Amino acid sequence: MASKNTCVYLGQALADYGFGEGHPFGPERHDVFQSELIRRGLDKPLDIQAPVRATPDLIELFHTSDYIEKVRDYSKFGNGYLDAGDTPSFIGMYEAASNVAGTVTDAIDRLMAKQYRRAFSPIAGLHHARRHVAAGFCVFNDCGIAIEYLRQQYGIKRVAYIDIDAHHGDGVFYSFEDDPDLLFADIHQDGRTLYPGTGAEDETGKGKAIGTKLNIPVPPYADDSVFQSVWPQVETYLQKYEPEFILLQCGADSIEGDPITNMAFSPASHAYATKRLCALADQYCDGKFLAMGGGGYNHDNIARAWTAVVDAMVKADQ
Ligand SMILES: [Zn+2]
Repeated sequence: MASKNTCVYLGQALADYGFGEGHPFGPERHDVFQSELIRRGLDKPLDIQAPVRATPDLIELFHTSDYIEKVRDYSKFGNGYLDAGDTPSFIGMYEAASNVAGTVTDAIDRLMAKQYRRAFSPIAGLHHARRHVAAGFCVFNDCGIAIEYLRQQYGIKRVAYIDIDAHHGDGVFYSFEDDPDLLFADIHQDGRTLYPGTGAEDETGKGKAIGTKLNIPVPPYADDSVFQSVWPQVETYLQKYEPEFILLQCGADSIEGDPITNMAFSPASHAYATKRLCALADQYCDGKFLAMGGGGYNHDNIARAWTAVVDAMVKADQ
């Protein structure tokens, strides 16, 4: 049998990252993806891998030690909020957030070792957390940790971070705003109409990085035709900077019918982005492509969008 090119991470350690029943970021998000993956038979052409917990050293590649200590403290009792009121703490939060981050770095290790060419973790892409604080349901920013890990562990400078979640990836953007080597392209609902309010077109980086980042706000109710009209900008941008590794945050909250956003993409946009990024990864990165689930609070949309991403990853190598 031919070796499998794609791996997907599943397991209770990932499902544990959630803010309880009734919260939009609940524990069912992992399970609805897993059920749909199996229902579509997509678990057959790929390997399932188990989540891995990050060590504090890995988390400290991105976050301040004071903030990590705070998460550890709040995690013991699960009382109060980690930020101004969006991100409640829960018992076991430190371990659960460490599982999200460690799973992403495990995926990077497997891609760098050429065990796989593509990897996906559903409970990942927590793009709002800053280096020193939580935000928007995001405790540890696994995207930021992944970028720092690629640089420090593997000496990869030009990491590309692409984000098609409905929300702007502010935790990634502002953490690397003055870093010209971090390639950042983000299609999101216009910040004047949605949390976190940032990501205007003229935010292109600062200092020596001015002009090196791509923010593409789209209006509420933007559909697949809008996606198709703006997507070529992402490809042109990546072709210009020639990344060495591609990360995709493929939040399902940009699909029509999400309870907390107003966008109207279909899973076809997620599949298309994945297909094209896999082709670009083949061209520039020896195939290395890691997708992170991101947001998404309509369970049917999560199931359809993330399996569309996985299906496109598998097909890219057939
Ligand atoms: Zn989102």
